[in-house]
Amino acid sequence: MTVEDRSYTKFCEIVVIDLHVHSVYSDGSYTPAELLSMAEDRGITALALTDHDTVGGVPELLELAEKSVVEVVPGIELSAECRRGTMHILGYFIDHTCDILLDKIEKVRTGRAERNLEILKRLNKLGFVLMWSDVVESAGCDVVGRPHFADALMKRGHIKSRKEAFDILLGKGKAAYVERYRYTAVECIELIHAAGGMAVLAHPATIQMPDDQLKGLIRGLKQCGLGGLEVYYAEHKPENIRKFKRWADELELLCTGGTDFHGACTPDLKLGSGFGNLHVPDEILVRLKEAAHRSVSGG
Ligand code: AMP
Ligand code: ZN
Ligand code: FE
Ligand code: FE
Repeated sequence: MTVEDRSYTKFCEIVVIDLHVHSVYSDGSYTPAELLSMAEDRGITALALTDHDTVGGVPELLELAEKSVVEVVPGIELSAECRRGTMHILGYFIDHTCDILLDKIEKVRTGRAERNLEILKRLNKLGFVLMWSDVVESAGCDVVGRPHFADALMKRGHIKSRKEAFDILLGKGKAAYVERYRYTAVECIELIHAAGGMAVLAHPATIQMPDDQLKGLIRGLKQCGLGGLEVYYAEHKPENIRKFKRWADELELLCTGGTDFHGACTPDLKLGSGFGNLHVPDEILVRLKEAAHRSVSGG
């Protein structure tokens, strides 16, 4: 298919965008080049690369995007301190060369390295035969995280799936879980702003808070500069989407969305469409770009 053919296809079909995608630079299984080519084949018009704690894949993807009809959004997903569940903050249209950003995420990566050794020790103590080289072999290019431990445990035949590994060993509070250095949500938002980006609260349901508290937390984050809420998300049920959309409208936050595509480890989840029924409205991208631009110019 030529670039012109693709433009024509894009013109004829429903416009699909995906603003939450992982690559081998964190815990995804595809390279930026493979993601871009998959997006082209699936008629996806815009893709945000949001790897955990790294912008390592962004330059490669931006360069490839120059010859593609797919628009690429430079992004990141930062993990914030969270008492019970998981809180992730997405940064969009960030300057991936920003020194402040690079310095701060380096600190997170050092924290990950310390934590990874501790996880390995715990797993060995629990009787699982596993070497650091197994984990490295399962990992991609940049950030090594718990999913890579899960994959290494799977390869050794200790468990059957990433999910099982998290359920019995690696999930918060389980036997091989180890805390790691994280910024607070407000620090994550400030960091994203320092890099000229727009901060969005990812998959709000994973924070695991009662609705009234969660909404209060989001309201507080909005006062600290949060710009959007990830309303459209592959794992959100329709009632979740409706609820978060209502909250976002009430709190004047932009509704964003994406699949949280990781690749081969979740074969039922597809780039752009999630489990088949996700549709992220493409006008979001225009509003996101305007908002990121405003936050840089201080408007
Ligand atoms: P880490 O950043 O090393 O703490 O690992 C967290 C990442 O592991 C998340 O961002 C997800 O990609 C993945 N993850 C978390 N919980 C699960 C689970 N139950 N099953 C599979 N993957 C998970
Ligand atoms: Zn991940
Ligand atoms: Fe996440
Ligand atoms: Fe993610």
